Amino acid sequence: MEFLRPATWDEALAAKAEYPTALPIAGGTDVMVEMNFDVHRPSAILDLTRVTELTGWSHDGDVVRLGASVPYSRIIDELSGPLPGLALAAHTVGSPQIRNRGSVGGNLGAASPAGDSHPALLAAGRDVLVEAASVRGTRLIAIDDFYTGVKRNSLEPDELIRAVRIPAADGPQQFSKIGTRNAMVIAVCAFGFALHPKNGTVGTGIGSAAPTPRRAVEAEEYLQGVLAERGLWESGGLLGAEVVQRFGELVRGAASPIDDVRGTAAYRRHALAVMARRTLTWTWNDYGKQIRSAA
Ligand SMILES: Cc1cc2nc3c(=O)[nH]c(=O)nc-3n(C[C@H](O)[C@H](O)[C@H](O)COP(=O)(O)OP(=O)(O)OC[C@H]3O[C@@H](n4cnc5c(N)ncnc54)[C@H](O)[C@@H]3O)c2cc1C
Repeated sequence: MEFLRPATWDEALAAKAEYPTALPIAGGTDVMVEMNFDVHRPSAILDLTRVTELTGWSHDGDVVRLGASVPYSRIIDELSGPLPGLALAAHTVGSPQIRNRGSVGGNLGAASPAGDSHPALLAAGRDVLVEAASVRGTRLIAIDDFYTGVKRNSLEPDELIRAVRIPAADGPQQFSKIGTRNAMVIAVCAFGFALHPKNGTVGTGIGSAAPTPRRAVEAEEYLQGVLAERGLWESGGLLGAEVVQRFGELVRGAASPIDDVRGTAAYRRHALAVMARRTLTWTWNDYGKQIRSAA
């Protein structure tokens, strides 16, 4: 097995162009497990740990550009202000050791439907963009187009993820995850939710309840309609139980889960409706408080 160890981003792209089947490794928290279990015997490993271009982030006020290899622990410590939903999701990943190594770039590379960053990225809005680069250039992949199947994504063989561009939060965000215990657990299902008062939209993300992470489109459209028609963005007034209930039902309807060792499809649907109602209630209460304190 070849072991490629580029020192710079340009060297990494050149190596990926020369060896398109080389398996990138960042934190290694997925790659090493799969190699130990013989899931992968790649002809080459492309070690990205020396590439410092991947370990930084920047924030221009509107958008956070998160380097692919920034570990979860730094997202929690440094970015819970502009990226509260992603930071909450990061809190639930593995253990401190996994959060010190694991990254959003690795979560996207693995593209597991159970990856915890995906619901938060989807909920952050349709403007979330994955920066994919190769020696041919850089392209921006909308997060909605990134997930193509179970553990499949839209990267070309010669491409690497450079960063993810995520709009900074302009309203409350939440993340909720159900597992069979409190830590070190793969999601039975998960839900991300965000309010985007600036453009009058809401964002949702469903995890571990469909072949790919996905948003609950009808639920988003329903809630956006109610918030606009009733002037609730301006007033921060009460949503009403029927709105919360309907939102939960639409989120449940957007999932297409399976029965597996972690849970049944019926349980996942039920749990998603509960998480959707809760996260909507929490975020809306926070939003209402913000509106009232600004008045
Ligand atoms: C004990 C344990 C607990 C875990 N708990 C959770 C959990 O609670 N929630 C969760 O979501 N995950 C969990 N994971 C899985 C894993 O930690 C995450 O998926 C993490 O985000 C992977 O990041 P990484 O940097 O370690 O990726 P790596 O293992 O280095 O790579 C993962 C995949 O991404 C590819 N890749 C990495 N970087 C790039 C890049 N820049 N461009 C293109 N492809 C790239 C790799 O080739 C590989 O296919 C757990 C893993 C372990 C071992």
